[in-house]
Amino acid sequence: MTSSTAPKIELVLAAPRGFCAGVDRAIQIVERALERFGAPVYVRHEIVHNRFVVDSLAAKGAIFVDELDEVPQGAPVVFSAHGVPKSVPEAARARNLFYLDATCPLVSKVHRGAERHYREGRKIILIGHAGHPEVIGTMGQLPEGAVILIETVADVARLDLSQTTPLAYITQTTLSVDDTAEIIAALKQRFPQIENPKKEDICYATTNRQAAVKAITADCDAVLVIGAPNSSNSLRLVEVAKRAGCKHAQLVQRAMDIDWSALQGLSVVGITAGASAPERLVEEVIEAFRQRYAVTVREIATASEAVQFKLPAALDAPAA
Ligand code: SF4
Repeated sequence: MTSSTAPKIELVLAAPRGFCAGVDRAIQIVERALERFGAPVYVRHEIVHNRFVVDSLAAKGAIFVDELDEVPQGAPVVFSAHGVPKSVPEAARARNLFYLDATCPLVSKVHRGAERHYREGRKIILIGHAGHPEVIGTMGQLPEGAVILIETVADVARLDLSQTTPLAYITQTTLSVDDTAEIIAALKQRFPQIENPKKEDICYATTNRQAAVKAITADCDAVLVIGAPNSSNSLRLVEVAKRAGCKHAQLVQRAMDIDWSALQGLSVVGITAGASAPERLVEEVIEAFRQRYAVTVREIATASEAVQFKLPAALDAPAA
């Protein structure tokens, strides 16, 4: 609790922030699997990129593994929201494992788009970050060599492709909207024949969270982005805030990570959260401010979201 002499600070919350429909669905899949089949339920990789979420599910009986060979016969296994290469469900079937696929339907949409372009004879350029699980999953939908990964505008100039090669581009769902637009413009300039995705691949949640953080940045001396260091969409929010002119944009996983010295003397601090960060962590951060400051809270909403995704049929059906 603060005393009446505590310095004043205004917190400006970006909305939308935090959980998206794909993350919400992935967590529900693990929770429902635990209720239905009992612990342990195995999860291949972090179900979403957030330590708090992973630890909470582990406390309920989820066991996180790197690879399928760590899953014992007969135990259910869940694949993460980022999607998996085709070889993963194939390996699960070969071992007769019961699996639930928590791949976000918007990531699956990118996979189906890539397959369509491949069937129609196009070489596919994927704009994304090397090594990110979503990129590994998307590239793994097609035979090796079918998809070329690029990360920057400079990579476009390096592409060793002729003007007559049938081409299409697809993107990771959690990229910076602005950076990606520049890369796409460079691709279209160099390869006018290149096909677009049918519908934008950067997902609604990424787009909305980036627009919301841009909208609060003008009013704020600093912006805190709650999210994990391996969460692509959280890292992009920090970049967007910096690009919009914010000199103090920090990524924090929890309240304990806040660099209070960097906030000294500032009077308005913006707060947002990546798509895999629960609202609980936003509340924790606000509470940490209340311990040090006399706080007022304001929210700036730039969109409302009502997207929901269905759970896999195996979890919808009544228990046997
Ligand atoms: Fe799906 Fe977008 Fe959320 Fe990723 S960030 S899980 S693509 S809704």
